[in-house]
Amino acid sequence: MKRTQLITIWLLPVVVIGGIFYPLLGYLVLAMMAFFLTLSFFKSRYWCWNLCPRGAFLDIVISKTSFKKPIPKIFIKQWFRWAVFALLMCFVVFRIMRTGGNLIAIGAVFVGMCILTTIISIILGLTTRHRSWCAICPMGTLQGAIGKIGVSKQE
Ligand code: SF4
Repeated sequence: MKRTQLITIWLLPVVVIGGIFYPLLGYLVLAMMAFFLTLSFFKSRYWCWNLCPRGAFLDIVISKTSFKKPIPKIFIKQWFRWAVFALLMCFVVFRIMRTGGNLIAIGAVFVGMCILTTIISIILGLTTRHRSWCAICPMGTLQGAIGKIGVSKQE
């Protein structure tokens, strides 16, 4: 557990619980995405291991109750990771297109995505390893890919 995680972990309930009552909190997810995707160019998946609120939750809370089983083998296949990425992105884009440009509804889409992926990460974390979700998380996959073409690899 990192000291930074003790701070950022609180952003998870802010979005997944607070966002139910105040959907505009979904834009906090967008702001975090903008930050970590930029950061990944310089430091690859630094966000994942040090700052991500859900990663912190999985490390601090779920690790205590996880069955600690091996992650499904398919999770380490690149094609599967990108398939999950494509599926979730299509899901988000489809839902945003149905909002008619309503800012609150768009915020709710990001809150909903965060709730859905958090539930999946908890189920996977409890039944396999606590960070199983991180093997297939679309944002982790994207950061890894950006990191490969980024500054950290050019040094
Ligand atoms: S892989 Fe996804 S959930 Fe896991 S730490 Fe990275 S961004 Fe967070």
